Amino acid sequence: MSAPNFRALPSVDRLLTLPPVQNLLAGESHAAIVDAARAVIAEARQAIAAGAPSPPPEQLAQRVVERVAARREPHLRPVINATGVIIHTNLGRAPLAPDVARLVAESAKRYSNLEFDLESGERGSRQVATRRLLGDLTGAEDALVVNNNAGAVLLTLSALCAGREVIVSRGQAVEIGGGFRVPDVLRQSGARLVEVGTTNRTYVADYASAIGPETAALLRVHPSNFRIQGFTHSASIGELAALAHDRGIVLVDDLGSGALLDTAAYGLAHEPMPQESITAGCHAVCFSADKLLGGPQAGIIVGRQAQLAAIARHPLARAVRIDKASLAGLEGTLRHYTLGSAVERIPVWQMIAMPLARIEERARNWERWLAERGIASAVVAAESAIGGGSLPGETLPTRALALDPRRVPASLIAHRLRRQSPPVVGRIERDALLLDPRTVLPDEDELLLEAVLRACS
Ligand SMILES: *Cc1c(COP(=O)(O)O)cnc(C)c1O
Repeated sequence: MSAPNFRALPSVDRLLTLPPVQNLLAGESHAAIVDAARAVIAEARQAIAAGAPSPPPEQLAQRVVERVAARREPHLRPVINATGVIIHTNLGRAPLAPDVARLVAESAKRYSNLEFDLESGERGSRQVATRRLLGDLTGAEDALVVNNNAGAVLLTLSALCAGREVIVSRGQAVEIGGGFRVPDVLRQSGARLVEVGTTNRTYVADYASAIGPETAALLRVHPSNFRIQGFTHSASIGELAALAHDRGIVLVDDLGSGALLDTAAYGLAHEPMPQESITAGCHAVCFSADKLLGGPQAGIIVGRQAQLAAIARHPLARAVRIDKASLAGLEGTLRHYTLGSAVERIPVWQMIAMPLARIEERARNWERWLAERGIASAVVAAESAIGGGSLPGETLPTRALALDPRRVPASLIAHRLRRQSPPVVGRIERDALLLDPRTVLPDEDELLLEAVLRACS
């Protein structure tokens, strides 16, 4: 192999004199074009160092034009999720039901009665509708919604426990991910963490013997993104509630996902439900709106009237206030639960409930469509995951399309699919790229297939 030849590469100044780049100079910032030219030359140097031939200057000029054009496109855009991970945090967690997404768009582009009482013509509360819906759905006396569950937990602990002690099982002093660590959140709230029990076993008696005059609350944290197996024990929410009520302290429950429907009805483990925590007697229960609830990013606190009033009054409540677009999406999503249409209409539940035969049929249609265009693939048995720190290790049997890795390596196909418009994200398993129909929205089949065709050609 001959030594890499960098000398044929033009300089940035020379690249700027080529006609396509010259044409750009009229409409674009000079600095943006110079940046693009530098990046294109650096890329070419890398390719040459790896053994590629030196590209002609006209081709480099064209790449500069493409780079500058790409910068004008929105960075944040729709992606087709073919990973089979239903609540994919990197891909935006829960997609909204189409009718709910319309409510979000309306609330964003028009004025609304966000904090305006149309009856009296006076100032109203943005919490009116969600408070009523959450009361109906969970049986709680009161509710407050904020920007996300991390905010809900921080606010709850700040309002109810600052300056006092909070008792937590050692097995639940965990990190949820994205920098949310229970001991750090507690410290930030101004409360003092008292750990009891051991990593694998904590009994209600461990909590009982740690309660003292400084104790404000017991905190249960649902270990949502990992599972310990074997010789384990944790106190039930019922036992903790009985203890808290007996000793006159508060019980706070961070459920994480918080499923309003029973996941056990779909062959999954039972994910704790907010209504169960309320029935057990918790004073404040916190959960996310964009995990198994299937709504927009938001945090929900339901519980007793006295505790919720203190939480709503705390200055942090204003700092973690929910925005109007998320609020519109949350109200619309909750309404599907009260109307009994959640499983039919909320995408997360449609995906969980999707019959295997329906998934297989879609995968077979994909296989046939690609085969007619000369692309070989196979329908294989695989597993879809819930994701998003919900039901760790729990999967649903699925059928996925496996693209033949003998033609093009899976990692290369995966990269090409990510660069399509819209980008497609799959998952690599045993050297094959898998595309799982379960998480591909019903109107995305054609876009996905066109993208696969382009990526494989
Ligand atoms: C996901 C999760 C959080 C954080 O919720 P966000 O809505 O992502 O802010 C907090 N606690 C638990 C147990 C979680 O699973």
